[in-house]
Amino acid sequence: MSKRDYYEILGVSRTVTDVELKSSFRKLAMQHHPDRNPGDKQAEIKFKEINEAYQVLSDGQKRAAYDRFGHQAFENGGGGGGQADFSDFMSDIFDSFFGDARRGGPRNANGRERGADLRYNLEIGLEEAFTGKNASIRVPTSVSCEACSGTGAKPGSKSRQCPTCGGHGRVRANQGFFSVERTCPTCNGRGEVIDDPCKNCQGTGRVTRERTLSVNIPAGVEDGTRIRLAGEGEAGLRGGPAGDLYIFLSLKPHPIFQRDGADLFCRVPIGLVSAALGGEIEVPTLSGEQARVKIPEGTQTGKQFRLKGKGMSVLRSREVGDLYIQVVVETPQKLTARQRELLEEFERESSQNTHPETAGFFGRVKDFLGGLGGTA
Ligand SMILES: [Zn+2]
Ligand SMILES: [Zn+2]
Repeated sequence: MSKRDYYEILGVSRTVTDVELKSSFRKLAMQHHPDRNPGDKQAEIKFKEINEAYQVLSDGQKRAAYDRFGHQAFENGGGGGGQADFSDFMSDIFDSFFGDARRGGPRNANGRERGADLRYNLEIGLEEAFTGKNASIRVPTSVSCEACSGTGAKPGSKSRQCPTCGGHGRVRANQGFFSVERTCPTCNGRGEVIDDPCKNCQGTGRVTRERTLSVNIPAGVEDGTRIRLAGEGEAGLRGGPAGDLYIFLSLKPHPIFQRDGADLFCRVPIGLVSAALGGEIEVPTLSGEQARVKIPEGTQTGKQFRLKGKGMSVLRSREVGDLYIQVVVETPQKLTARQRELLEEFERESSQNTHPETAGFFGRVKDFLGGLGGTA
C-alpha cells in the first residue's frame, strides 16, 4: 500500500510554517482522537497517520530528509518497533500537546497534587443567623501525615531521586525515528522513589483525621450562603497545597418568624374583643425581647403593623430590617351559656354600622342579583 503524502495528510502546503503546521495538527488530532470517536477504526487509522506525519514534519531534520527522499527516508531506519504499543504512544503525544487537563487532577512534574476542595453542610437557626456565631465543626478529612511530615518516607529515611527518570517523572524511548515520552513506570511520575515507606500512611504522605474547626458565621447570613476556609480542605499529595473547605449554610425554618431578606414576618392571633375594643399586645422579636404593639379599635384580620428596626440583621452591614406583625382575629369557640347569652344580646344591639364590611358586601350581592332579575 502506498503511503499518503505527509503534507497532504495534514492538509498543508510544502512551505508551511511551524506555527501553521502545529495548528493544523491540533485541529485534526482533536477531530480524529479515539476518545472522541470510540470504536471508529477509520478515525483511529486517521489519527495514527496524522501523528506520524506530524512527528516527521515538526522535526527540522526529519522534515528535510522527507523533502529529499520521501517515505523512503524512513524505511530502513526503524529498528522495527514502529507498531508496538501505538495507542500508548498516541496518548503520550496527545498529552504532551494538550497538557494534563485530560487526566483530571492538577499535577506538576514532581507528582505534587493539590488536595481536593471539601464541602460541609451546616444548618443553623434563624436566631444564630441574626446574631452571627462562632461554630465549631468536625470535619473528616485527610491531613498531612505527622510521622513523615507528608513525605511518605519512613521517619529517618529519605526518598531518593528516581533512578529510571532522573527525577523528571517522564521517560523517553526511541521507537524508530520517533522519540516517545511517557510517564515513568518506576515512580509513576513522582520523580522520586521511597525505599522505606512510612508505616503510618503507607507511603501516601497523608492520613484521615477528624478535625475540629472553628467557623465564624457573620450576622445576617442567608440560606445558601457559602463560607470558604482557604487551605482547610483535603491535604495535598506529596507536599502539594491543601484544597479549600466550603461551608454551605442552610437555615432551619423558624416556628414563629418567616424571613424575607432583611424583613421578618410574624402572624399574631388576637381575641375578638381586643380587636373590637382596641388595646395593646406584646409580641416577640428575634432578639428575644418583647415589643408592644398598639391595636386600634375595630382592627380586622390581616392588618399589618410595622416595627421598624426589629427585623433581620443584614450581612456585612449595620442595617437591620423591619418586623411586620400581621394580626389574625380569632373567633371565640366553646362558649358557655352566659357567653352565648351576651353575644346574642350583642347581636340584638348591632346595626349596619357595627359591621360595615358585611353590610356593604350583602348590599352589593343584592344589587347583583337584582340586576340579573332585571335583564332576565
Ligand atoms: Zn507518613
Ligand atoms: Zn521515575
